[in-house]
Amino acid sequence: MKIRCARCGNCCHEPLIELTHHDLHRLAQYSRMPVGKLIKLYADTETECNGTDEDWIKLSYGRRKIGLRKKRNGRCIFLSDDMRCGVYEARPMSCRIFPVDILLDEDNRVIGFELSDIVRKKFVNCNHSYGKAIPFKNFRRTARQARDESETYREKVRRWNETSPDGRNKSDFLAFLGFETVV
Ligand code: SF4
Ligand code: SF4
Repeated sequence: MKIRCARCGNCCHEPLIELTHHDLHRLAQYSRMPVGKLIKLYADTETECNGTDEDWIKLSYGRRKIGLRKKRNGRCIFLSDDMRCGVYEARPMSCRIFPVDILLDEDNRVIGFELSDIVRKKFVNCNHSYGKAIPFKNFRRTARQARDESETYREKVRRWNETSPDGRNKSDFLAFLGFETVV
């Protein structure tokens, strides 16, 4: 299976791009931007992707999900006017995988392959086609890395949610993830 991306940029407008601390490290290093300016903490009402409870960070003002910041017009802060990604080499894992979801078993074997939920539910008008552009094996490799990184992130969120006393905020959470510069 091969996917050809039409580079329409729609996926860089609509969905919440969820991040792990691995994504954040790569983005901060590549963009030289402070971590606090790369992200926004999204409330339930701001995302269609509710995911599981493990994805939600408990903060003093409610639960939030960590996502890539957008401009006022809804565009990702790194999307250029000609629809190119300004951090392509360091882009988040979810951007690398889109528009497919690859299901892996515990031994890393591929057990399923489908278009992303947000494409099938038409939250994003994805103009991909099936062609020669991106070999499936690349998706599979990326899917394995994404799963591993997501698992270590969820473990951190689980520990945060279990141990963090009330009154913690975004800066506290970023410090918990190991980021010193949060402004
Ligand atoms: S990081 Fe790049 S690929 Fe991901 S949403 Fe932003 S512009 Fe698009
Ligand atoms: S919405 Fe689909 S076709 Fe358009 S840039 Fe994203 S992955 Fe490519």
